[in-house]
Amino acid sequence: KQVEMFDIVVIGAGPAGAVSSALLNKKGYRVLVIEKQHFPRFSIGESLLPQCMTYLEQAGMLDAVEKATFQYKNGAAFCRGNEYEYFDFREKFTPGWGTTFQVQRDCFDKILADESAKQGVDFRFGHALTACEMNDQQRLLTVETESGATYQVQAKFVLDASGFGRVLPKLLNLEKPSTLGTRKSIFTHIKDNITLPHYDRNKILITVHPQYSEVWFWLIPFSNGRASVGVVAPPEVLENMQGSPGECLQQLISQAGMLADFLANAEYDSEVRTLGSYSCDVTSLYGENYALLGNAGEFLDPIFSSGVTIALTSASLAAETVHKQLSGLQPDWETEYSQKLKVGVKTFKEFVEGWYDQRFQKVVFSKQKSDNITRMISSILAGYAWDSENPYVQNPRRLTTLAQICQND
Ligand code: FAD
Repeated sequence: KQVEMFDIVVIGAGPAGAVSSALLNKKGYRVLVIEKQHFPRFSIGESLLPQCMTYLEQAGMLDAVEKATFQYKNGAAFCRGNEYEYFDFREKFTPGWGTTFQVQRDCFDKILADESAKQGVDFRFGHALTACEMNDQQRLLTVETESGATYQVQAKFVLDASGFGRVLPKLLNLEKPSTLGTRKSIFTHIKDNITLPHYDRNKILITVHPQYSEVWFWLIPFSNGRASVGVVAPPEVLENMQGSPGECLQQLISQAGMLADFLANAEYDSEVRTLGSYSCDVTSLYGENYALLGNAGEFLDPIFSSGVTIALTSASLAAETVHKQLSGLQPDWETEYSQKLKVGVKTFKEFVEGWYDQRFQKVVFSKQKSDNITRMISSILAGYAWDSENPYVQNPRRLTTLAQICQND
């Protein structure tokens, strides 16, 4: 059988795959997306950051997302015992979008994939990528359909957007352990039944467990009276508890002060899921005729909801660089893709480490922050972690000094 030829093959139709494929299609390339599952399918990662809006707009998908009436989001709130602080993303250092959405990912990811398909990208659902070799200066890919049949396609360039599938890191031996600690998460969707007037539905709520500072919860409201709720904890905390994951989740929530009050009438009516050891890294984000996007490259931690933002930033940067390469301009993938992407990843990583070693928690719950510093931190939490004008992006270690100042509260 004749091998089909494409300019670019994208592995995975999540946010990174949908946006990168649309951007390359706009530049006139013939793009194929191979997706193992059928959409809509469940995915975790429901709280977007305003920076995402820039890329949705670039990919011509923002109108469709806005029409879907997702939950409006304008900030992040943090709670610990009786303390409650929040960042309003509209009050930030970096210009650009200050609001975004909290989305059911089954629906959101389907919208992005449908929009990319409408623009002309070829999507094949229920097809999994199983091998990737070099052949005649191009990539020869093997795809397996659900019925077990296999076929091959040839591509000038491959983008791996397979998320935790981590297809190319596994096939090409690129896996590298993350330096972040191992944690586990239990989560579900609920009918939240929150009527308390002081609950702000326009913000994600992050709650620190009153006894264990490394244990925290997210509450991400949706626009239909439902919400995503989850806990993140060191594995040993969960191993020492009795009961099913759902019982552990509810037990921990019942100990969590304000969060327990908000969820007093919640109905736990959906499947409870667990995910562990999700932080991961790779030895390189690019190689001969391929690059890694989003979670297929590095994944940090859920605390700042940075995953989809990093995925979309990587999609946009990689699309530009692939365009240069296929136009014969010989881009330098190290400086033009990897190092550029890592500017924001490094910023978020410092903040993630600062969350678990308490520096960031000191900053959040401090009353000492000037408005100027609050706006710089708000910018990063809104996803503008690549803005080199922001002193906390120029040198993320400034967080340590800020925490020391805040300690003297
Ligand atoms: P994905 O969205 O995972 O898409 C990858 C796709 O590739 C999948 O559809 C999969 O089926 C497909 N695939 C896999 N293998 C193959 C194969 N062999 N062949 C073909 N297709 C394949 N991020 C946020 O922005 N906000 C949050 O609030 C947030 N919360 C999180 C909470 C937890 C507990 C965790 C673990 C993560 C969270 N994240 C969050 C991160 C977020 O889930 C990811 O960063 C984001 O989904 C990455 O998008 P992606 O496009 O890289 O991959």
